Amino acid sequence: MTLKIAVIGAGVVGLSSALCLAQNFPTCEVTVIASEFYPERQGITSVHGFGIIGHRREGLNTNPKVSDWLLKTREYCRRMHPTVAELAGIRPIDAILTFHEKGEQGLNSVLPERARHLQNLKKITEKQAKELLPLSQDGAMEMLFPPLKAEHNLFAFETSTYVIDSSLYLPWLKNELASLKMSNGEARVTFVCRKISTLDELTSEFDLVVNCAGFNAGRITNDPNIFPIRGQYISIEKTIGIEKVIAGRETVVCPRVNDICLGGVYQEGRSDTQVDPQDTESILRRCETLVPAVKGAKVLRVDVGIRPARYGGARLELEWWQRNLKPSSEVLNAKKLPVIHNYGHGGTGFAVHWGCALEVARLAKSTYSERAKL
Ligand SMILES: Cc1cc2nc3c(=O)[nH]c(=O)nc-3n(C[C@H](O)[C@H](O)[C@H](O)COP(=O)(O)OP(=O)(O)OC[C@H]3O[C@@H](n4cnc5c(N)ncnc54)[C@H](O)[C@@H]3O)c2cc1C
Repeated sequence: MTLKIAVIGAGVVGLSSALCLAQNFPTCEVTVIASEFYPERQGITSVHGFGIIGHRREGLNTNPKVSDWLLKTREYCRRMHPTVAELAGIRPIDAILTFHEKGEQGLNSVLPERARHLQNLKKITEKQAKELLPLSQDGAMEMLFPPLKAEHNLFAFETSTYVIDSSLYLPWLKNELASLKMSNGEARVTFVCRKISTLDELTSEFDLVVNCAGFNAGRITNDPNIFPIRGQYISIEKTIGIEKVIAGRETVVCPRVNDICLGGVYQEGRSDTQVDPQDTESILRRCETLVPAVKGAKVLRVDVGIRPARYGGARLELEWWQRNLKPSSEVLNAKKLPVIHNYGHGGTGFAVHWGCALEVARLAKSTYSERAKL
């Protein structure tokens, strides 16, 4: 019997999990079920993500496996053939990152953690930093590093990473999935537009379910730990010659394939998606301070995305869900349904997505031996 897999969610996490599973289980049938597919914007955070493969925020809500997932995602980007990478919207990019820490000692206390997530992190001298970042304007530091602490110093680093343009990558992933065929020529992957309320809806149809429903993943499984982090941003025309990602604390200027994204805000607990004019004003002022060349550029779009964060860090694990089987069910005969949860990636979904997809495939393989015991 063919293994039937359902993947809930068509954001970067769901589509990449589906692709990795299809590659690892060459005879399985995959159904991607989502309440929205790209180019819908409202309920898919991945449409809004800048796609930088990096991670600058540490803390309680980071899964300790993030570094490993991130390294694997970076390796996936590095290994991709340049022609394919171009189609997929993946490209290497240099970045300048600024940190505001209490002297060298303060910097050294945070650096090892940050260096694990960022490639070839190289400190640049104060002189170089001043040339690159004209932060001598009045109020620039207060604006970029609130709350500004007098005893803290500004440090700047260069690094190299990748940026993934979601407007190319999401359709590319979907096309890759759609092109997979069974031996009889029929499609191996189907796409179903449907809202799932509980996993019980899927127990009689599938042998394995992968839960990648982003911010809603917790509702489907009664996980109370999911919380929103609102992110407003501005997309501007790519007529100005900015070739590097330049990041302050919450302020980011990110050139992508077709536009330059200006960010942002990081508002924990807020899930409202209306554009806030005060945020727009603040983002523009901060980005113009960090990179004066963005001043006057044509604004293409101002938008809001909700980062799907989770207390305790992202959830990527296997759960055995009690099946609710109908007599007519065609699924493999087991009492429990293996469900792999892959959600709660907050502001790092792109940075970790392929490492997580590999982990999903590994967990899926492990269910074979477990299934035999049930
Ligand atoms: C402004 C901004 C900038 C960002 N920049 C970066 C960055 O530079 N680097 C980075 O790594 N990350 C970044 N992020 C974070 C990143 O975008 C997210 O972590 C990532 O997109 C989450 O992807 P996801 O697939 O888990 O969720 P989503 O993209 O939200 O996808 C969820 C999917 O599940 C479906 N779904 C939801 N509920 C149901 C249901 N009940 N039934 C069926 N389907 C359902 C939705 O329709 C959708 O298809 C940024 C986010 C924002 C907002």
